[in-house]
Amino acid sequence: MSDPRLNHPTCAECAYFQSNGATSGTCHRYPPSFAGEHPAEHHTWRFPAVTSFSWCGEFAPDGNAGPR
Ligand code: SF4
Repeated sequence: MSDPRLNHPTCAECAYFQSNGATSGTCHRYPPSFAGEHPAEHHTWRFPAVTSFSWCGEFAPDGNAGPR
């Protein structure tokens, strides 16, 4: 039986991916979260950083973004 993780669409193909470099970007599936380095005064609202090669179970084909 093949490993399903080896044959899946990547962030680069996802409607929620916003590129900000050749192989980097942010995921906009959910609203930004308040996070960052310590101390907490340096936290900002941010979307999760992902690479174009990342993937997750929330993938949506281009044109299919939106609440589910
Ligand atoms: S595959 Fe997942 S992590 Fe990547 S952009 Fe889409 S929703 Fe975000």
